[in-house]
Amino acid sequence: MSKTYEIAVVPGDGIGPEVCAAAVEAICAAAGKSAFNLVELPAGAAHFQKSGTALPEETFQACKAAGAILHGAAGIPGVVYPDGTEAGIEFGLQLRFRLDLYANVRPIRLHPGVTSPLKDMKPGDIDYVILRENTEGLYASRGSGTNLRDEVATDTLVMTRKGVERIARKAFELARQRNGAPKDGKKRVTVCDKANVLRSYAFFRKVCQEVAQDYPDVELDYGYADAMMVHMVRRPDFYDVIVTENMFGDIISDLGAVTVGGMGMSPSAEIGDERGFFQAAHGSAPDIAGQGVANPLGTILAGAMMLEWLGERHQDRALVAAAKRIDGAVQTVLKDGEALPPDLGGSAGTEKVTAAVCRAMDRQMAAA
Ligand code: ATP
Repeated sequence: MSKTYEIAVVPGDGIGPEVCAAAVEAICAAAGKSAFNLVELPAGAAHFQKSGTALPEETFQACKAAGAILHGAAGIPGVVYPDGTEAGIEFGLQLRFRLDLYANVRPIRLHPGVTSPLKDMKPGDIDYVILRENTEGLYASRGSGTNLRDEVATDTLVMTRKGVERIARKAFELARQRNGAPKDGKKRVTVCDKANVLRSYAFFRKVCQEVAQDYPDVELDYGYADAMMVHMVRRPDFYDVIVTENMFGDIISDLGAVTVGGMGMSPSAEIGDERGFFQAAHGSAPDIAGQGVANPLGTILAGAMMLEWLGERHQDRALVAAAKRIDGAVQTVLKDGEALPPDLGGSAGTEKVTAAVCRAMDRQMAAA
C-alpha cells in the first residue's frame, strides 16, 4: 500500500496563499491526493495582527510533527515589533532555529523558454546551487542584538565549528551528486565570504578548507561576497555549488534569481537532519498580492523538492518520480510559452499557469 505523508501547509501573507495553493494543486496532481494529509495552519504577519503572535505554538508543534512543511510566504510591510523588525518573517526564522534547518538549498537554473537578462546566457548555461547556512551567521542574532539608548546598536555574527563543518560537508556532498559547472563540467564548491575583513569569515573559509581535504574530486574555489556580485553576472556558468553565510546567502540568492527570470522562479528547501521546510525564495510581494498574477513556479518547484526529499528519506520511488513529473511539466510549460506569467513576459495569471503545469503532468502520465 502506498504511504500517506502529513504535510503542514502554511499559506501566510501577501501572495503566499496564492502560490501555496498552486503548489498544493501541483503535488496532488503529481502524486495523487491520497498521498498526502494536508493540514493548513496559521502563521505570519496577518496572524500577528489578529493574535499578537506570528507563530502560534500549535502551528509550531504541528510543523514539528509533520513529515514536511510547505509555505507560501510571510510578511506585511509595516507590521513590525516595537524594535522595528518585521513580525511576519518570525515564522520562517523560528522554524529554522528551533527545528535546526541548517541547510538552505537554493537552485539557480535557467530553464528553456526563459530569457536571462544576461544577454549571452542560454538555457543550461546557468545551473548552480546556492547553499546558504541557515542557523548561524549574522541572522543568528535576530531578537538579541542591542540598542543602547538609541545611540548605539549591535548585532553579533556567530560561527561555530559544528555549524560551518556541516554546511561545508553538505556543499561537497551536493557537488558530488551534480554534473559540475556548465562552463567546464568541473565539480566545484565556491566559498563565498569576506575572509579578508572579518575573523568570523576567515574561520568560515578555514573550516571549509579543512572539510575540502575529504573531497579531492571537487575543486575548491573562493569568492569575496562583493566580488561574487560581479562574477555571478559575468560568468554564472562557472558556478556549481556556492556555500555561504546566512545573510550573504539571503542577498546573493536574489541576484541569482534575477539572472534566471526573476524572484518567481526560485525554489528553496530548508533542510535539517530530520525535517524539511519548502517555499519559494521570494517574499510575500505585497505589491502584486491579491491580483492573481504572481508567478507560482518557484513554489511549485519547491513542492517538487519536497517530494524528492520525502521520497529519498522514505525510500519511496513513486514520490521521487512525482517530483520529476512536476519538474518536467514546468519545463514543458516554459518551453511552450503559452501560459507564461507576467514576470516572464506573458499574461497568464497564477491559476492559468498552475492549470497548465497540471495538464502537462496529465499528458506525461497518459503518454507513459
Ligand atoms: P523578503 O525580504 O521577505 O524575501 P522582499 O522584500 O525581498 O521579501 P519580495 O516579496 O521577494 O521582496 O519581492 C521583491 C520583488 O519581486 C517585488 O517587486 C515582487 O513583486 C517580485 N516578486 C516576488 N515574488 C514574485 C512572484 N512569485 N511572482 C512575481 N513577482 C514576484
